Amino acid sequence: MNDIFTARGSVLIAGATINGSTVDIAIDETGTIAGIGEGIRREYDADVVIDGSDRLAVPGLVNTHTHAAMTLLRGYGDDMPLQEWLSQKIWPLEAHLSGDDVYWGTKLACLEMIKSGTVAFNDMYFFMDRAAQAVDDMGLRATLAYGFIDLGNAEKREAEIRATEALVSHVKSLGNPRIKAAVGPHSIYTVSPEGLRWCANFAEEQGIGIHVHLSETEKEVVDCVAQFGKRPAALLDDCGCLTPRTVAAHCCWLDEAECRLLGERGVSASHNPASNMKLAVNRAMPYHWLKQHGANVCLGTDGCASNNSLDLMEEMKFAALLQKFAWNSPTLLPAGEAVAMATRAGARALGTGPGTLTTGAPADIVLLDARATCNTPLHHTDSNIVYACNGGAVMTVLCQGRVLMHERTVPGEEEIVREAAAAARALVGRAREA
Ligand SMILES: [Zn+2]
Repeated sequence: MNDIFTARGSVLIAGATINGSTVDIAIDETGTIAGIGEGIRREYDADVVIDGSDRLAVPGLVNTHTHAAMTLLRGYGDDMPLQEWLSQKIWPLEAHLSGDDVYWGTKLACLEMIKSGTVAFNDMYFFMDRAAQAVDDMGLRATLAYGFIDLGNAEKREAEIRATEALVSHVKSLGNPRIKAAVGPHSIYTVSPEGLRWCANFAEEQGIGIHVHLSETEKEVVDCVAQFGKRPAALLDDCGCLTPRTVAAHCCWLDEAECRLLGERGVSASHNPASNMKLAVNRAMPYHWLKQHGANVCLGTDGCASNNSLDLMEEMKFAALLQKFAWNSPTLLPAGEAVAMATRAGARALGTGPGTLTTGAPADIVLLDARATCNTPLHHTDSNIVYACNGGAVMTVLCQGRVLMHERTVPGEEEIVREAAAAARALVGRAREA
């Protein structure tokens, strides 16, 4: 079974189910879907053959808002108000974070994402060169941004600019087509307008994405209006940060005019329902307005300290339920749209292809267990995926035609769990001694 993970040739998935039909999926040496249909196996001489019987093939999921290495902080502080949680639990620990911590924390995140069907993620954190190393090892896709925070201080801004430039050139030097850099202005309340403008210009010059938090809390909006006389989305727009390359996370407290602005600018809005509910931000993203005005609404988990899982299968359900509950509409965000958020919309946000299982698309493919209880009976695949299954139904994962997990085995899993657990323990120890 080891060759399945190291093979770099063509792949055939024989007899998998897509939308109720049994088909073969041919993948060429470049990791592109070369054909989907009945009986392809008779003509296609693949280096690796994967048995697709009792498997539902779906596009790989895309997590558009993470702080991956925060897996090390999973369960360290829960059930607290946002500010207390940050100042008493998260920041004191993060002050002791090392590059090795980020490497093992990101590897643990990649493992968890692969095991729950995610093939690409949009990450913002620190020591991102080490995050890049982890992603390179694990074989999935990522867009990596250094979390730029200047707190209005010109000296700090210069340091953040240098850190951002260093990450972007480092990622480019890797030459790994699965790993991209983005600029990561943390938010309007942690980055000055000067910092935001620099980020927008640099991202445009480099042709790369912008990853930002937007209107997570009501306080952010109230403070922004008091300080700048405008709401957060308008401030971001003034600084040039709203573009088709921008992913704005949370977007809970947007008004309708801001939703229209995001739509006009072609922004991707990352919905993070579990994090928003856990931290009680007290308003759900206005999905209906964003959709109506043409924004690209995608899905994310946020970091593991505020979720505490990276399982995007679960997140689809949270999104569909939260929208219905918050806006009092049982027809809002139906299952098919939730799946599209986690696949097509996410792929569009990160520029990783169409996010569909179609000829010519990258072979980012997830095989689900069709015999799992959550898939029995199988009246509607999307319904089962969103409302019944979690990541435990994921059996096999391919990214760009490369097998990352097969029959729930991921190479190196034991070492990752052991090293990440040790890194988390040591991190808490260092913080206690300080
Ligand atoms: Zn976040």
